[in-house]
Amino acid sequence: MESRPACVIAAAGEQDVAAAVRMAVAQGRPVGVMATGHSPSVPADGAVLINTVRMDGVQVNPRTGSAWVEAGTRWRQVVERAAPHGLAPLNGSSPNVGAVGYTTGGGAGLLGRRFGFAADHVRRLRVVTADGRLREVGPGSDPDLFWAVRGGKDNFGVVVGMEIDLFPVSRLYGGGLYFPADATGDVLHAYAEWTRSLPEHMASSVLLAQNPDLPAVPAPLRGRFVTHVRIAFSDAEGAAELVRPLRDIGPTLMDTVRDMPYAEVGTIHHEPTDAPYVAYDRNVLLRELGTDAVDTLLAHAGPDAQPPFITELRHFGGAYAHPPEIPNCVGGRDATFSLFTGATAAPGSRESRDRFLTGMRPWSTGGTNINFAGVEDTDPAIVRTAYRPGDYTRLTEIKAVHDPGNVFRINFNIPPKGMTARPRP
Ligand SMILES: Cc1cc2nc3c(=O)[nH]c(=O)nc-3n(C[C@H](O)[C@H](O)[C@H](O)COP(=O)(O)OP(=O)(O)OC[C@H]3O[C@@H](n4cnc5c(N)ncnc54)[C@H](O)[C@@H]3O)c2cc1C
Repeated sequence: MESRPACVIAAAGEQDVAAAVRMAVAQGRPVGVMATGHSPSVPADGAVLINTVRMDGVQVNPRTGSAWVEAGTRWRQVVERAAPHGLAPLNGSSPNVGAVGYTTGGGAGLLGRRFGFAADHVRRLRVVTADGRLREVGPGSDPDLFWAVRGGKDNFGVVVGMEIDLFPVSRLYGGGLYFPADATGDVLHAYAEWTRSLPEHMASSVLLAQNPDLPAVPAPLRGRFVTHVRIAFSDAEGAAELVRPLRDIGPTLMDTVRDMPYAEVGTIHHEPTDAPYVAYDRNVLLRELGTDAVDTLLAHAGPDAQPPFITELRHFGGAYAHPPEIPNCVGGRDATFSLFTGATAAPGSRESRDRFLTGMRPWSTGGTNINFAGVEDTDPAIVRTAYRPGDYTRLTEIKAVHDPGNVFRINFNIPPKGMTARPRP
C-alpha cells in the first residue's frame, strides 16, 4: 500500500511520541503509529507517522512474573528475555510481530486457550493521548481508557510501553504435521473431530497453502499444496498420546512435532520472515466446525481452489471464552475457531476468497478478529464486528472523550460518537 505521510518521526522515547502528537494536533494532521509495519490499514497520507522501532526495551521482573515492554519491541525479544527465568509471554505465532500492536488488538497466541488473550494480561500501560499528554493507565487510573486500549488498538492513543504478565511455561510439545494435498479432506475432518475434546493446554491450527517453489521453503514442501497442522501443547503429561489421532491420519511430508524449549515457539507456525509479501487478509469467527462446514471449506479453499489463497483455522475456546479479571473490549469470546484468509494480488484471488467467506456464513458468529483484519476491512461498519455491540457503543463514547477530533484515524477506525465520516487527512 502506498502511503505519503507529511513526516515520519523515528521516536527514541515517550517524550518524542508526546511531542509528535502535539505537533500533529497543532498542524491539524492525523497521527499514525507503526512498529514493524506488519499490519497496514489505510494510507497515512498527510499524517504524522510515529515509528516506534527505536523504542525496543524489555525488562523482565521474575519476582513479579511480569515484563515491561516498550512500543517497538518484537515478541522475539520478549520471549528471549523471559526464557532464562522459565517464563513465557502470551506471544503470537510469529516472533517478528510487534508486541504492543498485537496486544492492543487482543492477541490470540499459542498459550491463549490456556490463559486467554494477551490483552487480558496487561497490568498497566503508558499512553500518549490526543491532547499530547502522557498518561499512566491501569485499573486504578483512567479505567475507561484501560478498558478501551486493550482491544481498541491505537484508536485512543499511542501506547509507549506496557507491563504484561509472564507465565511459568518453559517447554512445549509442538511443531507441525505437514500433509500432502490429497490428504486435506481426511485431515480437516479428523482435525474438527479432534478439537472437540482437547484440554485447554493444547493450542492448534491448520494452514492450507500453495507453497511457492522457492529455496526458502523446505524441499519436501516446495511448490506444492500443503495442509499444515500446528500443535503447541504446554503440559508435561500425555503429549504424544494426544497428538496420535492426527499422526494416524496418514503419512506426512514432514513432522516437526517435538519437545522443545519455549524459546523455539516461533518455529511452530514457520511463517515467512525474509522478503515482505502482499496479502489481502480477511477473517471471520466461527461458532462451530461440523461436517457441513468442513465440506464447504474444502470445496472453496482446498487444493483445487482457483486461483489460490491461503486459509488458516485456529482453535479458539478454552480461556479465550472466559471474561478477563479486569474487563477489556476484546470481542470474539464466543468463537470456537477463527478463520483467516489471505488472497494474493493475482486476478480473481480476492473474489475467490470472498466467495469462500460468504459460503462459510452459516457457521459464523458474525464477529471478526481485529488483528486478522486486512486493508479491505477498514470501514467502521466492518471494524465494529470485532466488538460486542454494547462495547462498540462504549468505545465510540470513550473515543469522543479522549479523541473527539479523531486524530488517531490511520487505523481500523472507531470514530467518536456522533462523527460518521472519517475526516480527510
Ligand atoms: C506473520 C504474522 C503473524 C501473526 N500472528 C498473529 C497471532 O498469532 N495472533 C494475533 O492475534 N495476531 C497475529 N498477527 C496480527 C498482528 O498481531 C497484527 O498485525 C498487529 O497489529 C501487528 O502489529 P505490528 O506492530 O507488528 O505492526 P504495525 O503495522 O507496525 O502496527 C499495526 C497496528 O498496530 C497498532 N499499534 C502498533 N504499535 C502501537 C502502539 N505503540 N500503540 C498503539 N497501537 C499500536 C496500530 O493500530 C498499528 O496500525 C500476525 C501478523 C503477522 C504479519
